[in-house]
Amino acid sequence: AAPWPPPPPSSWARSPSPPRHEPAPAPPRPIVTPPGCPCAPGRGRDRPSRQPSRPSTSRGGRGAKPPALPFRVGHGFDLHRLEPDLPLIIGGINIPHDRGCEAHSDGDVLLHCVVDAILGALGLPDIGQIFPDSDPRWKGADSSVFMREAVKLMHEAGYELGNLDATLILQKPKISPFKETIRSNLCDLLGADPSVVNLKAKTHEKVDSLGENRSIAAHTVVLLMRK
Ligand SMILES: [Zn+2]
Repeated sequence: AAPWPPPPPSSWARSPSPPRHEPAPAPPRPIVTPPGCPCAPGRGRDRPSRQPSRPSTSRGGRGAKPPALPFRVGHGFDLHRLEPDLPLIIGGINIPHDRGCEAHSDGDVLLHCVVDAILGALGLPDIGQIFPDSDPRWKGADSSVFMREAVKLMHEAGYELGNLDATLILQKPKISPFKETIRSNLCDLLGADPSVVNLKAKTHEKVDSLGENRSIAAHTVVLLMRK
């Protein structure tokens, strides 16, 4: 019969015990940086290694060229008040409802929030600063105008969409019958494959203005990738 317990594999064999005098200090571990990482040393940034990894040009003022990070993340949030007898436009699609968004433009909460996520990822000012509601040009404007501008800015900065995840929050109406149409329009505006554009919808459990059909909100996260 085999001996019990079985002997450990040879790879488990202990190394010989160190001599019982002062232990030698461990050698410093080399810092391994993956190739292509913006923090990698020797990429033209003359700075001590203990400095924060943020490139010195990252906040060179508004309008400064974004640093050439391989990825950029952006978050967008928007909320609009719902008022009776206004059209409800979500993601460029007219949704039948007894009320719609009160806004200077067409009040498309989803497109506004996607635009803000893209602008945020690029480190640019938000949609309200780029398209101020004091400007008569944007009165009743189709929000696809803002989307096209944000996508143009993204490409000009040298990025393309990695993926996008959006969540609509509204109590009424049910969005499921329109979800695919909205998503498809979003893909067209972004010039993106449907596999990288995700859309979710939730109610607000009948609480607060969102849950009482008095407002509608959306959150979006985008990942941009350097082209
Ligand atoms: Zn808005």
